[in-house]
Amino acid sequence: MICLGIESTAHTFGIALMQDKKELSSATDTFTTEQGGMNPPIVAEHHKKVKDALLKKVLEDAKVTLEEIDLVSFSKGPGLAPCLHVGKNLAIELAEKTKAPLIGVNHICAHLEIGRLITNTKDPVFVFVSGANTQIIAHEGGRYRVFGETLSIGLGNALDKFGRIAGLGFPAGPKIEELAQNGKLIELPYVVKGMDVDFAGIITKAEQLLKKGAKIEDLCYSLQETCFAMLAEVTERAVAHCDKKEVILIGGVAANKRFCEMLDSMCKARNCKFHPVPLKYCGDNPVMIAWQGILEYNYNKRQEDLKTLEINPKWRIDELDAGWF
Ligand code: AMP
Ligand code: MG
Repeated sequence: MICLGIESTAHTFGIALMQDKKELSSATDTFTTEQGGMNPPIVAEHHKKVKDALLKKVLEDAKVTLEEIDLVSFSKGPGLAPCLHVGKNLAIELAEKTKAPLIGVNHICAHLEIGRLITNTKDPVFVFVSGANTQIIAHEGGRYRVFGETLSIGLGNALDKFGRIAGLGFPAGPKIEELAQNGKLIELPYVVKGMDVDFAGIITKAEQLLKKGAKIEDLCYSLQETCFAMLAEVTERAVAHCDKKEVILIGGVAANKRFCEMLDSMCKARNCKFHPVPLKYCGDNPVMIAWQGILEYNYNKRQEDLKTLEINPKWRIDELDAGWF
């Protein structure tokens, strides 16, 4: 079965072709800006501009024609509504052209499933840390459940916020990682509440210390050590509670080597195995949407009604039946 998957939840627009477990082609174009952050209508305009060229490229690279497509899948949510609409409209257009069934998939679930496929893990604890999201997830009792999550902003956005204040540019994560190599520990608020974490107070405190003259290297080092330790603690408890033997880290913050190192040593101490996911599949990508479409279609042959199809910008991972697992 050949599935064409479309990703358009936020900054990245992408299209991929998967034939069962094999990636045939993929192409993405990511919105960037020198000033400010993401303005959803402007990002949606970017997606509209790049979509036709990306479609042409993935078909040509895979030497596949539209007639050969058996299934179309797209990100139905969660995400920015104007961006989701661009993906939805293209998906409907292609489903009509190809007469293939159409499936709208959950973007977070797609992150988890591509992680499982690429690392060849069966039933891991998922540490999902992107710009907007921070959740510790595991599959229990027939569905994905969130065992811990941020009570305010996602860690990536928190690091980016500090970066904006400190003039590090966007995205700030890589720059913070670099500066942290020459830093020393300053105490910052360590906020774990039950299984949840909160990064807002830490960023405020780091901001205050920066204004009082603390060294940027020390703040970067301390932000990393504190935030990653909070997440390692919650992950450790999820591993123990669910009795899992594998941990995978996904989302853009997974690029951070120190974070991988901390999770790896926690796993070793628990007789569990840590699996980093290659960067190409950590962040937003269309391959995961195509794979999720195949998984779901093989599971229940469900397809969307093109006339009533809606996006779901606030769709949570724990709302869906993950019976294909
Ligand atoms: P995503 O939303 O999954 O595309 O991830 C983007 C986020 O990952 C941004 O907030 C980045 O600052 C963050 N990020 C990227 N590279 C790193 C890194 N090396 N260390 C920490 N955060 C990072
Ligand atoms: Mg994402």
